[in-house]
Amino acid sequence: MNSTDIEQIVRKVLENIGNGSPDNKKSSGPIPTKSRVAMLTKPEHFDIREYNIPEVGDDDILVKVEGCGVCGTDAHEFKRDPFSLIPVVLGHEGTGEIVKMGKNVKKDSAGKPLAIGDKVVTCMIFKDNPDITMFDLNKQNVGGADVYGLLPDDDKHLNGWFADYLLVRGGSTIFNVSDLDLDSRILIEPCAVLVHAVERAKTTGILRFNSRVAVQGCGPIGLICIAVLRTMGVENIVAIDGENGRLEFAKKMGAGKTVNFKDYKGTEALAEAVKDAFGGYLADFAFQCTGSPVAHSNIYKFIRNGGGLCELGFFINGGDATINPHFDICSKEITIVGSWVYTLRDYVTTFDFLKRAKGIGLPLQELITHKFPLEKINEALETNLKMTGLKIAIVNE
Ligand SMILES: [Zn+2]
Repeated sequence: MNSTDIEQIVRKVLENIGNGSPDNKKSSGPIPTKSRVAMLTKPEHFDIREYNIPEVGDDDILVKVEGCGVCGTDAHEFKRDPFSLIPVVLGHEGTGEIVKMGKNVKKDSAGKPLAIGDKVVTCMIFKDNPDITMFDLNKQNVGGADVYGLLPDDDKHLNGWFADYLLVRGGSTIFNVSDLDLDSRILIEPCAVLVHAVERAKTTGILRFNSRVAVQGCGPIGLICIAVLRTMGVENIVAIDGENGRLEFAKKMGAGKTVNFKDYKGTEALAEAVKDAFGGYLADFAFQCTGSPVAHSNIYKFIRNGGGLCELGFFINGGDATINPHFDICSKEITIVGSWVYTLRDYVTTFDFLKRAKGIGLPLQELITHKFPLEKINEALETNLKMTGLKIAIVNE
């Protein structure tokens, strides 16, 4: 073996160290000239269209899409175009592999090196606000910022993750997540919402290891909430929902006890049931994860004097909720926080949460109940609207 051989071996080894496990380096073959996108052209209808893959600029990254979750936001937009985005390529919970990048691209938004073959996710786009970096965003959420998958169509077209390729423009946030499997990567965005909610809850000083925590609503948001609490070491969790299937899932995610609200007549009986589930105590802290105003009104009755509440269920205006300020808040001295999307810091925390969840055996990947290929995207969105599954995902080949 001569010194050139050794040099080559060393270079190979270093390459692999820099790029995660070697199987991430699988080549995806030549890049085609065209990419399919799912363009929402009118309410309840995507067209599969083909566009030329545009030139990749010096600061840009071309990503081959592997998969993308369907979000409640996509479902709203699909149904009625409330954000007036049509025509639009949706899909913001996506992930894929870097197949080409401009010469100026070296690192991701957290400072990790980027290379061809790396698996990535995008977060927000701060093109017009270069002063925002991930570490001064600790207390600021990113609601209102641009995001791939909710951008108006333009001459590049590759603006959303419901496609074969995404063109990530310079100035966007991007993270190297090569050490996470595909299902975990698809779940990053919704999980970040819960990592943020739990961070918000922690600011009250009430949420601790041994807290009794009620989680109301066991859709994907509530279920992931339970998982985040479990990875933090919270043991005493009671899940509340109206569907036994979801409550069973809540147990798999780490809820110790469950309460089906349909089994109880009236708020008082329900509050008693929650108390029973905690062995005769009300909750120290509660997370409200439904979009129902009645559920918001009820939850105060489950919380002890001096307890805390995090409200995170209302992604859209669900109407007004009636509460009694005297009984529900004032005389109980409840501390309430609201939670909305996440910060960039939460996004990075989420990568660690997903590894920890896997480490303690929480079956997060089972949240993805349906997978559709891109050409069946209309069916995927209809399935989402029927609300028979949990997380619906588009997965390319
Ligand atoms: Zn989303």
